[in-house]
Amino acid sequence: MFFDPVYLLLMAPFMLFAAWAQRAVKGRFAKYRQVPARSGISGAEAAARMLRDGGITNVKIEQSQGFLSDHYDPKSLTVRLSPDVYNGRHLSALGVACHEVGHAYQHAKNYAPLKMRNALVPLSFGSNIGLILFMIGLAFSMMELAVIGLLAFAVIVVFQLINLPVEFNASTRAKEYLSTSGILTSNQEAQGVAQVLNAAALTYVAATAQALVQLLYFASLLLRGRD
Ligand SMILES: [Zn+2]
Repeated sequence: MFFDPVYLLLMAPFMLFAAWAQRAVKGRFAKYRQVPARSGISGAEAAARMLRDGGITNVKIEQSQGFLSDHYDPKSLTVRLSPDVYNGRHLSALGVACHEVGHAYQHAKNYAPLKMRNALVPLSFGSNIGLILFMIGLAFSMMELAVIGLLAFAVIVVFQLINLPVEFNASTRAKEYLSTSGILTSNQEAQGVAQVLNAAALTYVAATAQALVQLLYFASLLLRGRD
């Protein structure tokens, strides 16, 4: 099916969009890591202030390894920041650090989409197996197997859809905090941070769109196979 020209034609724009978004996020991070924050505050310091001002006392901040490996771990209540974000005193570091604290805020405030997303994490590992089951089912006309496979794949699409408000909301919290706390001192700085965070959000939109089109295409194969 991957040699089906219809499939390739359908997927090509979404693959290009995803590749473009990946490039954009790296490019914008690189651009705004050249722009020092006038406040002189590092990513780790901004994250610590945002936690403190939000009244969150049980979340730690650690330095992690690897480029753009930043994340919030809800199990160990830890914000992990890559070396460049942890130590950096530039707009890219401030944006990414406070975005991760945004997830800690969501966790502390029981933000519903985050809870739903985390509940789906164990199920989302079945998505690749789902795709394999689907293809075997389709190839050997075992329709029940194909349906089970497709449902397993659908879980990852639902996961990605719920992930969108989670990511946008974390970025909104970061932008709001950085502007109102005075860590960003001008509109120009706020715009730089927004550029970095908006590019990161686009990569999630691209991945979701790609998975959604895939799911619709697979579902159409199933309907055709049934006739
Ligand atoms: Zn995030």
